[in-house]
Amino acid sequence: MSGDTHFNSTNKVNVASFTTHTSALGPGIRAVVWVQGCPLHCRGCLAPGWIPFIQANLMTPTEILEKFEIQKIDGLTFSGGEPFEQASGLAELARLARKKKDLNIICFTGYGYERLLNHPPNDGVYELLKEIDVLIDGSYIESLNDSIGLRGSSNQRIIHLTSRLRLYDLEDQKRKIEVTIRDGEMAFVGIPTPGIKSVMDRAYKSEFERMDEDERL
Ligand code: SF4
Repeated sequence: MSGDTHFNSTNKVNVASFTTHTSALGPGIRAVVWVQGCPLHCRGCLAPGWIPFIQANLMTPTEILEKFEIQKIDGLTFSGGEPFEQASGLAELARLARKKKDLNIICFTGYGYERLLNHPPNDGVYELLKEIDVLIDGSYIESLNDSIGLRGSSNQRIIHLTSRLRLYDLEDQKRKIEVTIRDGEMAFVGIPTPGIKSVMDRAYKSEFERMDEDERL
């Protein structure tokens, strides 16, 4: 097992954040789960606040599902953090969701597909792979962020593990970003272009500095 601390011994998912509906992370309307914790440390990471293996919101798959209006969505997207560090819980979430509706499932991972197959970093990796229709794999490389497609950088592969989403042009589509204000803070959903990423980095830096200041008070 990689990573420093894991919280999934009872199949709970350590959820960094979720959204109940977005059209920025795959075809149709989707619910998204972002998990907390990633061992990969890509330079210029798209979600640096979700790298540490700290406890965020521990939720059972059933509790997560209760937040979603399954009949109103077309699919689920898993991102992070690193979803395959919490593979068992996410696989269970996918199975439970599909008992209610035949959703399609997209999953981002910083691991390469071959690494997942040949040296799975976790117990539930094959279980989760079985549920996924499209896997977007590989490290994020900032210099290869070309603002195109449902991936952070052009080295990442969009791998169709089933034929369900083959008709969608996930590689060359224009990216969408949704910006919301939650509890007075700006939140972005989608894959940022380099310009948006620098805005996000500034927001993250000032949030980090504010927290640091609060701790000093
Ligand atoms: S795999 Fe994703 S979350 Fe992990 S370090 Fe790379 S960009 Fe960040």
